[in-house]
Amino acid sequence: LCMMEKFEPVLMPEELRSKLLEWPYFIIDLYHWNKHTQKEKGKVCLQVSQSYGLLRDYFTGRELAVTWANDEFERMFKGPIDRITLYAGPTAEFLRENDIDEVVLLDPWAEEVLSEKDFDVGAFIIGGIVDTGGNKKKTTPKIGEELEKAGIKVRRRKIVLKGDVVGVPDRINRILGIILKMMVEGKSMDEAVYEFQ
Ligand code: SAM
Repeated sequence: LCMMEKFEPVLMPEELRSKLLEWPYFIIDLYHWNKHTQKEKGKVCLQVSQSYGLLRDYFTGRELAVTWANDEFERMFKGPIDRITLYAGPTAEFLRENDIDEVVLLDPWAEEVLSEKDFDVGAFIIGGIVDTGGNKKKTTPKIGEELEKAGIKVRRRKIVLKGDVVGVPDRINRILGIILKMMVEGKSMDEAVYEFQ
């Protein structure tokens, strides 16, 4: 008992500890993989690697999950494949296996802006989409529709700068970085966006 008392003070503050234990998944959803050119697929892979790097700054990197990850992705991905969570099947299945029934989908077309109230979900989903051609307009909401069809509750949320999506970088890793700055460092959305511009 004496030992336990002695060790108690070195534990993290309760709030921080519970936050760490309930750390959500950050899912990059490759549902639209085949709409990309080879060059764009390469960019998706690079942005996934960079996302891993960002998460490593705060946590282990395992919180990064890539869903619909097919063989071609695995071949093209040059990052540490065994240090992230890969899932070859649908995102909804991955969520169910992890007992997650509600998610935040980062979606530039959403009505509502992401806020602190959204930080309690089990997973954040970012579309594994790179736009260089103009053939992928409104593909993010499609990811949400697929999840809803499978029975997942989806909060569609946008990131804005001074109220507008214009000026917000749309690279996958930068969107992740903005969420992390807000969630972990407690920065305002505008501050977080400025840091990733
Ligand atoms: N062409 C896609 C569309 O029209 O839906 C946008 C793809 S964007 C390059 C890649 C991903 O970053 C999106 O799927 C979304 O998850 C996220 N994203 C980009 N800008 C965002 C914003 N302003 N707010 C929330 N999420 C955003």
